[in-house]
Amino acid sequence: MNARTLLAVPITRCDLPVGAQVRAALAAGADLIELRVDCLDDIGQVAKLLEQPHEVPFILTIRSAAEGGGWDGDESERVALFESLGLKLPGYVDVEYSAWARSANLRQKLGLVSSPGADGGRPRNRLILSYHDWRATPDDLDTVVRPLLDSPADVAKVVFTAHSATDAWRVLGLLRRRGGSRPLIAMAMGAAGLLTRVLAPKFGGFLTFAALDAESAVAPGQPTLAELLEVYRWRAIGPDTPVYGVVGWPVGQSKGPRVHNAALAAADMAGVYLPMPVPPDYAGFAEFMTLLTAQPELGVQGLSVTMPHKEHALRWLEQEAQTVSAGARRVGAVNTLIRTGAASWSGGNTDTVGLLAALRTVPGVLDDPGRRPQVVVLGAGGVARAAVAALCDAGCRVTVFNRTEARAAELAQAFGCAARPWAERGGADVRVVVNCTSVGMWPNVDETPLPADALRPGLVVLDTVYHPAETRLAREAAARGARAVSGVEMFLSQAAAQFALWHGRKAPLDAMRAAL
Ligand code: NAP
Repeated sequence: MNARTLLAVPITRCDLPVGAQVRAALAAGADLIELRVDCLDDIGQVAKLLEQPHEVPFILTIRSAAEGGGWDGDESERVALFESLGLKLPGYVDVEYSAWARSANLRQKLGLVSSPGADGGRPRNRLILSYHDWRATPDDLDTVVRPLLDSPADVAKVVFTAHSATDAWRVLGLLRRRGGSRPLIAMAMGAAGLLTRVLAPKFGGFLTFAALDAESAVAPGQPTLAELLEVYRWRAIGPDTPVYGVVGWPVGQSKGPRVHNAALAAADMAGVYLPMPVPPDYAGFAEFMTLLTAQPELGVQGLSVTMPHKEHALRWLEQEAQTVSAGARRVGAVNTLIRTGAASWSGGNTDTVGLLAALRTVPGVLDDPGRRPQVVVLGAGGVARAAVAALCDAGCRVTVFNRTEARAAELAQAFGCAARPWAERGGADVRVVVNCTSVGMWPNVDETPLPADALRPGLVVLDTVYHPAETRLAREAAARGARAVSGVEMFLSQAAAQFALWHGRKAPLDAMRAAL
């Protein structure tokens, strides 16, 4: 088992000198440089580079088009290139297992470049035999990896395509199970595969790949060096690192990874927080939770839950006879899961806390002694439900307006408050308006849920939409003398409450705000 997972940077761009790319990768802390000869057009530059002394080992890769690479030329030419460049190394030579198994010529040439020089002076290259599945993560991963582990490869490499975080965890399972056998690279492509790349050091993967910059990425889902090292603090990840994440569908746009990883860093705590896309139906969510629950050694200690899984999380906890906070039960949704034991979880809802904290950034608005503030809630979806529950519990008099009026009536009835027709939403004489619709959210940034003439000085407007940070509603509210509170405040406060639930300590709110 290798002591430390290595960080490999592929050199892929034709529009920049190869040497400059290598220097940039070394300056950024690469442990290995992969020369993707199939992507580069000036082989002469590569040959020259290999003749110079180099600070870190190179991996020579000429990936065939059949396995997703850029080499669609003649196979005998490829073999000749492996031989001529391979003899200049030493380092690693990466070739597809299928090509190696098929071609005696390739095996012979790779044997040549992988044996010590005739005088014994040239150290031998090490052979990476690789397998790529650009479509999926098959059910039986062990059957795929076994021949590679049984081969004479120095390092076995398997790369799948993950369509969900469940796939990605299954791939990481290969690293966990390989025991004392030869070094293994097991990772998954696609956005859902990110966690296999970030968590390779936790499970003893031989290496992980990071792109020099976004333009240099050759595989879907490959993070940049900056993301890996700065956002995910990759160098600090080890076998004992606890894992957190956000479960949703989609989660690519989530600000959670930035905010929670910054919080862990500012608090100087071990831990990493990752996006975990899980298919939108209940079955997908239940499968994901079953996998994490059955394998506590994967190290997942806490999860944020976002759309569309907040109700699924509550249902799953109830079905599994796990703990649910009274607040989450009242809202009917769970946005935070906390691991409380090897096979036990508890669920809570911090959207309510976040909403009240955001409003309380305006002094006195909720806590005016002797007065119960009148509040309008626009919307009747998930966030509206959390808002109505929190505001009713805080003693406000709430009126719900929703485009689909039956939903407004249903929500109002559940919490004993009022509902009025959507068309009348601008006429209410109230202290606070909370927008819980998605109107104004990116990309529909020119929309607003409330006519500007309903906005006046003294009114407090909380727009829960936080992408963009300043919505049209917030801009118009401020222009008309009302006090606008951004959905960013709510997002940060609910995230801070999650941090406190997972770690039992106060969240570093300033660092979280700066990261957002
Ligand atoms: P949801 O359950 O899908 O509810 C969406 C609501 O928006 C429904 O009431 C829907 O009305 C209404 N709506 C959608 N399009 C509309 C339109 N064109 N005109 C009028 N009403 C419209 O969504 P959710 O989970 O409650 O999320 C709502 C918003 O909250 C999102 O934009 C999200 O950005 C924000 N949010 C903020 C935070 C935070 O921490 N700040 C956290 C989560 C979500 P119908 O019932 O008529 O369809």
